[in-house]
Amino acid sequence: MRSIKYLGMVSTILASLPRRSKPSRPDKSLARRLVLLGPPGSGKGTHAERLAAEPGGPHLPPGDMLRRAGAAGSELGRRAAGFVAAGELVPDELVTEAVLARLSAPDAADGWILDGFPRTVGQARRLGELPEDRGVELVLVLEVPDETVFERIAGRRREDDDPAVVRRRIDVYRKDTLPVLAHYDRLGIVRRVDGTGAPGEVYERIVAV
Ligand code: AMP
Repeated sequence: MRSIKYLGMVSTILASLPRRSKPSRPDKSLARRLVLLGPPGSGKGTHAERLAAEPGGPHLPPGDMLRRAGAAGSELGRRAAGFVAAGELVPDELVTEAVLARLSAPDAADGWILDGFPRTVGQARRLGELPEDRGVELVLVLEVPDETVFERIAGRRREDDDPAVVRRRIDVYRKDTLPVLAHYDRLGIVRRVDGTGAPGEVYERIVAV
């Protein structure tokens, strides 16, 4: 009888203790400084936008920045246009400093989501020169097979979505960006996510990382 009373007391005390939160993630937004990588059509733009809204800090896609610069006819846009239209990477120096400047803006102080940067080991090294408390915390890779890339891109209308250009962008991803993953793998901060299926399903996998 006494032991039942004792157990009752223990459970009352336990119930009154603050509950432990779920097993730890760095914070609610997955990580504060996050790089999303994946081939063209992997959905990184869509998911980066959603992560940024929830709230993970500004979403910084250099591809959008370059397309906007091209539409505005700025110096950067003119210099980058030929590379973007051909599915080639623009030279590192055209994107790297612009991205780094954006990362030091006040609204990026608490975190950011990079989508499509770094795409070369040179860009990754330059990003790696940031102090540790401002550098990359997590690299999330969306993996999708080439057939899925082509199916998804067939539904979009961007000037660099022509099939020959998409093929070139996939080749460039393999040649220049897979070594970036190897670089971050060595640092142990890469998580791979299956990017096939509906956007909602993929997003669930991302936030479960
Ligand atoms: P995205 O919208 O990320 O698919 O990028 C579209 C195009 O912008 C790419 O095919 C490249 O021409 C250019 N681009 C985007 N990000 C980078 C980067 N980090 N380095 C070099 N070129 C880039």
